[in-house]
Amino acid sequence: MGKQTGTIVQQALHILSADPAILPTIKGNSREQIFQSIGAILSTPNKTHKAYLRITLDNGNVVRIPAYRIQHNDAIGPYKGGIRFHESVNEDEVSNLAALMTLKNALHDVPFGGGKGGVVINPRQYSERELNLICKKYVQYFTDILGPDKDIPAPDMGTGEREMDWMTAEYKTIHPGKPYLGSFTGKSIVSGGSLGRREATGKGVYFTFKYMLESYIRSNLSTLETYNNPYLPIAKSYLNRPLTIAIQGFGNVGAVIAQEAFRDQSVQHTVVAVSDRNVTLYNEQGLPIDKLLQYSADHAGELPTTAEACVAYHIEAQIQDREAVLYQAVDVLFLAALEEQIHENNVEQVKAKWIVEGANAPITGEADDVLAANNVIVIPDILANAGGVIVSYFEWLQGKDTQFYSEEHVYELLYEKMQKTLDQVFPLFFSQTHQLRQSCYNHAVMKLSQVLYRQGKLY
Ligand code: NAD
Repeated sequence: MGKQTGTIVQQALHILSADPAILPTIKGNSREQIFQSIGAILSTPNKTHKAYLRITLDNGNVVRIPAYRIQHNDAIGPYKGGIRFHESVNEDEVSNLAALMTLKNALHDVPFGGGKGGVVINPRQYSERELNLICKKYVQYFTDILGPDKDIPAPDMGTGEREMDWMTAEYKTIHPGKPYLGSFTGKSIVSGGSLGRREATGKGVYFTFKYMLESYIRSNLSTLETYNNPYLPIAKSYLNRPLTIAIQGFGNVGAVIAQEAFRDQSVQHTVVAVSDRNVTLYNEQGLPIDKLLQYSADHAGELPTTAEACVAYHIEAQIQDREAVLYQAVDVLFLAALEEQIHENNVEQVKAKWIVEGANAPITGEADDVLAANNVIVIPDILANAGGVIVSYFEWLQGKDTQFYSEEHVYELLYEKMQKTLDQVFPLFFSQTHQLRQSCYNHAVMKLSQVLYRQGKLY
């Protein structure tokens, strides 16, 4: 488990062990021992699998490619988590991401445990045939530990529905006559994927922000005012007025957040800045997100980087460097690109008073502490970006039943599930003095503690 995650989990255990309402039948010294045992279980994966995939390249050379599947915890259900194709993949990173999946699924009551996979390659350096072979070999080497009721991978960085379709096909070939649709999620629609899966994370991120501000705080204001929470004055100053928004990242997650904010009819928020790997685009009056989406669709997901390209699509925007998005004087900043974007060296330049994490771990632990000291509200990844895994769960259910839902029904179920979690953690956040990230971890660790205890895993 990574340092930042480990510290928050340890803090959660400390808080929970001091609360007599959690595992109330355990008292005295045994209480300390039990919470130590939970810490030991959560800080290490159940199993680490490593293989060297043997691949014959197009030029005839045979190479061995390191690949991982790490199964962190399955107390709540089969292991679940993506497979990342990236040259920086290593055991520690995969292990940390697997632990995060255990916590995220527990937080949102998704009946899965946590797992993660990785292959140490830069996928852009391999041909389509080679990538197909790598996917097939991954399933062959790890076949004994994968399956709809054992461990269900999904896409992650460097993989998408194409890779999931290839892997599902290989699983089907190896297990003839067995159910296979639930073996991988994030598949294409024709191969048994779920409608709405691609948009689910971005929609869930925007929903989390909107629900907190426009529903939860507004409806519970008089109760929240009795708590003296230092973040409440900022939240109150944001109520009942249009807000300015900046979004880092314009991919699957960021572009959907932009679209949701742009089309939101209830309050006329203005998206003034968006960015991608090349550029930040800024317009004080609001960017024409519909035209940017069209541009991006016509240009392999990229934003325009020149004045001429903007003019061709009737886009009025100032062109700034890609980091500029982080430092705009906006009300809300959505982070939907990469990890570690706000760190100790740039955190003081961030002006937004509300930050929502669409990406995983876009704020370092050090920067998080500075933001907390500056009373910036951070809606953390574990809470906001779970839409993908929640709809993966719906995909798994649909695959098992071979009954498929409409897109509208998928979103209805997604919002219902997320709202249930939000209604559980927001009161914890506003009534206590922790950051929202800590409240979420406390809640997830509390659920895992109860399950581990009831299953007799703490003796
Ligand atoms: P994506 O590849 O579709 O988009 C990433 C975006 O970030 C692109 O616009 C890219 O140009 C931009 N980007 C890349 N490098 C950048 C840089 N150095 N500075 C600024 N922008 C940069 O990825 P995605 O699926 O939208 O995922 C975004 C983040 O959200 C990732 O961290 C991912 O792990 C996380 N996430 C995604 C999902 C999902 O369902 N897609 C679920 C949970 C978490």
